[in-house]
Amino acid sequence: MRAELNTGEIVTLQKDCGCVTHNDPHWTYMDRVAADLNSRLLEPTGKTPEQRWHGLHGAAIEEGARLAQKLRDMQRRGIVRLIPDEFDDPVVVRHVPLGVDGTRRQTPLKPDVILQPSYLPLNEQ
Ligand SMILES: [Zn+2]
Repeated sequence: MRAELNTGEIVTLQKDCGCVTHNDPHWTYMDRVAADLNSRLLEPTGKTPEQRWHGLHGAAIEEGARLAQKLRDMQRRGIVRLIPDEFDDPVVVRHVPLGVDGTRRQTPLKPDVILQPSYLPLNEQ
């Protein structure tokens, strides 16, 4: 995940957790998870009109809460725009040839350049 800061600088956001399901900061990953869950509230298949109405209502409430949290997370880091990239998730595994010991190693693909997060330290409120 890259980000445009309020200075105009574009930086790559560092991973800050031990999860194996994503390569970007945990808060940007959790935002994607929440957006996905909220979108499922809009799934119409197998629902009555009343259930679809409640799904729509629930999705609107949950999306409002998610976006308010995302805005706070971005503002306190000085981020004006998030720029997703292909390495955010899932973890992409690259197969490499057999090593000299006969084992086949797998290494995750990572971006070639990781910029240091100049937005740190956070201005916690
Ligand atoms: Zn994580």
